[in-house]
Amino acid sequence: MEIDLRLCALASGSRGNSIFIEGGGARILVDAGLAGREISSRLESVGVAPESLDAVLVTHGHRDHTSGVGVMARRYNLPVYTTYGTIKTSQSLWGKIDEVNEIESGKSFSIKDMELYPFPTSHDASESMAFIFRAGDKKGGIATDLGFVTRLVRECLKNCHLLMVESNHEESMLIDGPYPWALKQRVKGRMGHLSNSDCMELIDDVYHDELQHIVLGHLSEVNNDPQLAYGLVAEKMKDRFHSEVNLSLAWQDKVGEMVEV
Ligand SMILES: [Zn+2]
Ligand SMILES: [Zn+2]
Repeated sequence: MEIDLRLCALASGSRGNSIFIEGGGARILVDAGLAGREISSRLESVGVAPESLDAVLVTHGHRDHTSGVGVMARRYNLPVYTTYGTIKTSQSLWGKIDEVNEIESGKSFSIKDMELYPFPTSHDASESMAFIFRAGDKKGGIATDLGFVTRLVRECLKNCHLLMVESNHEESMLIDGPYPWALKQRVKGRMGHLSNSDCMELIDDVYHDELQHIVLGHLSEVNNDPQLAYGLVAEKMKDRFHSEVNLSLAWQDKVGEMVEV
């Protein structure tokens, strides 16, 4: 079977995010929130030479998504694609980058033969976005840092063959946990992060028979338990999932599974 799209979470969580996606002849880094050296070595560990990348796409201006963007762009001569809001927030951190392409939510664009469609998310960063990507007849979606699931997010993520969504915290662990009150409010607020049960509901809403891979990402190391996040989705969806659907986790300290459709 020919592979149209593949995805691998190199790192996911509040200490750094970077996801590798490939399709239509394009190899793209989605966010670069780790040291450039670390991103490069994680890419190499899954058999992808950093020199073979075509672009860096940045979802929003929080440092856990942006800290390595400047280094990666300069070291590998990569064009950066992101919104005006993210450029304004991040340009002093990034330093000089030769090619920065401004993109807009709601307007699709292509890198080689991969088509990308960014859409806005409810999150406390200027022009924060998630996006879907297509190559061949396959569709993938990446949506983390979600705040809450808007109707638009739900609509955009329908009919994906491959889906990475945020499962940030278990609400009771967050509430009873060590975070200061204001930070707890931020995380669980409508511009913060998605809880395990919100994530499960989103998957339930967009699930269809051709969905082949679900990756749970941006798990909190403090306010979540990977087994709990995984178990909640696996248990609730047990009756609906067809037998071939693959559920996996994205990690902070190690590379996740390379998933392909
Ligand atoms: Zn984040
Ligand atoms: Zn964020």
